[in-house]
Amino acid sequence: MFKALQLHQDESGKTLAQIVELDNHHLPEGNVTVDVEYSSLNYKDGLAITGTGKIIRDFPMVPGIDFVGTVSDSEDDRYQVGDKVILTGWGVGERHWGGMSQRARVKGDWLVPLPAELSPEQAMAIGTAGLTAMLCVQALEQAGVKPEQGPVLVTGASGGVGSVAVTLLAKAGFEVHAVTGRADNADWLKSLGAHTIVARSELEGQSRPLDKAIWAGAVDTVGGDILAKVLSQMAYDGAVAACGLAASFQLPTTVMPFILRGVKLLGVDSVMCPYERRLAAWQRLCNDLGHEHYDAFSTVAQLEQVPELAQQIIKGQVRGRVLIQP
Ligand code: NDP
Repeated sequence: MFKALQLHQDESGKTLAQIVELDNHHLPEGNVTVDVEYSSLNYKDGLAITGTGKIIRDFPMVPGIDFVGTVSDSEDDRYQVGDKVILTGWGVGERHWGGMSQRARVKGDWLVPLPAELSPEQAMAIGTAGLTAMLCVQALEQAGVKPEQGPVLVTGASGGVGSVAVTLLAKAGFEVHAVTGRADNADWLKSLGAHTIVARSELEGQSRPLDKAIWAGAVDTVGGDILAKVLSQMAYDGAVAACGLAASFQLPTTVMPFILRGVKLLGVDSVMCPYERRLAAWQRLCNDLGHEHYDAFSTVAQLEQVPELAQQIIKGQVRGRVLIQP
């Protein structure tokens, strides 16, 4: 028997979360079974667990879009019993039972080996959010953004993706300006490497097609008016890696930044990201994040705390990364 958080839907369509005891025959199809050591709380988990977003269509569902653990059974030649593995994305925790459980069964194709340099705890301190932050940084670099070209901006900086992006960009030598709606996180963001704190209110509201050119690059986790304002403030040839919608999925912008300043808007997705690109991102995360970083941006919570934390993350009240110990 093992313990899991399970989501149900009542007759009125409300999503309910409860901790249940399950055994292996309850597990979904897959060729690798994993004893989960940690999952983590991501914005999408918050949407799923609170029923705020239409993330889950088939109930009951075990949430948790990522996990790290040890293989306990495998029909996939690439993975043997005892191997440590990481899973992020692929619809796990959305369409396929996820990581907020002591045991998970998935397809071997969805796994990556835990890099030797990382402990399971460090891997989930990174998790989906950290992987996405790394993919954003790599997208900016591939677009030619370099530290000597000027400052870079990170929106939603206190969140999971934002806090890791601040850390990684600072480590790569960029002057990082961190946008936050929570002034009380300023010292913490500076401890992660932020050079300057920008109040979220400065970027809210309608923007002009072109504003003063400031940023060589940006990582945007929020979308909406803020992304539109960021685009209007991009310097010539600048690039924005857009990965999130914590404020809105709308983008009320014009073509002006693109056609007059050559600004590039780079979409970043971690869910279906191909295996080779994932491996490269994980390897770079191992190289760039020293041991001192993990404790700075992560905390650990238990399965019982998840429903409350899920409410908090969709209200933008969670700071950094939260690991979930099932
Ligand atoms: P978090 O909730 O941890 O972070 C989001 C942050 O955005 C908050 O901490 C807050 O930061 C800010 N924020 C919240 N609400 C608003 C608002 N209404 N207006 C402006 N800013 C707001 O979420 P994650 O870091 O896990 O995810 C961030 C986004 O990235 C989500 O939309 C998520 O779905 C997306 N995402 C996309 C992935 C992909 O593959 N494309 C993968 C992972 C995440 P502060 O208080 O500092 O302002």
